Amino acid sequence: MKQLLVATGNPGKVKEFADLLTDLKVEWLGQKDTGHDLDVEETGSTFTENAILKATQWAKLAGHITLADDSGLEVDALGGAPGLYTARYGSPEMTHEERYLFLLKNLESVPQPERTARFRCVIAVADSNGDVIQTAEGVCPGQIALAPQGSFGFGYDPIFIPDGQGGKTMAQLRPEEKHPISHRGQAIENLKSFLTRLV
Ligand code: IMP
Repeated sequence: MKQLLVATGNPGKVKEFADLLTDLKVEWLGQKDTGHDLDVEETGSTFTENAILKATQWAKLAGHITLADDSGLEVDALGGAPGLYTARYGSPEMTHEERYLFLLKNLESVPQPERTARFRCVIAVADSNGDVIQTAEGVCPGQIALAPQGSFGFGYDPIFIPDGQGGKTMAQLRPEEKHPISHRGQAIENLKSFLTRLV
């Protein structure tokens, strides 16, 4: 059976890929399964460049076909911020909660109709030599809530209301409800036929 590496230290992310691509008869690996350790510097100026940096460097190191994603939140009232800097918005030392409360503070005077935003995700695939062979993008449009709600998920989930989910935040959706509509879920969906042909 072919092995596919997801370049992430987060086992939850590997499971998300495996759950959304159950039809692929492959063995899913995370970084820890490879016995290697590498912290890729995300020096790209786009999500695509960062996803390619992670996929190619890990593929070269581990010798597996490798998938890597990069994602972030774009808020229209903030001119598209935090975007590429979503993970360290405010300060790298902040907790997830402090970070989304900081975002809410920066949107204090912005009324609900103007709180449009989207999560964007790019996944890059590199072959076992470390050459990029495909990229795919997924977008999840929605709005920033006035106050946090819900306890599922991670990151900005408590303050992001995805379109078409009855006004619930991402953190009020169970994982099986969130994953198919999320930015990562959409990017994985857009990658499905390529990966099916590949393995
Ligand atoms: P990364 O692509 O995993 O590095 O994600 C960058 C940052 O975006 C994370 O640190 C999270 O704060 C945020 N983020 C990415 N995906 C999600 C999501 O599905 N829900 C909430 N926040 C997310």
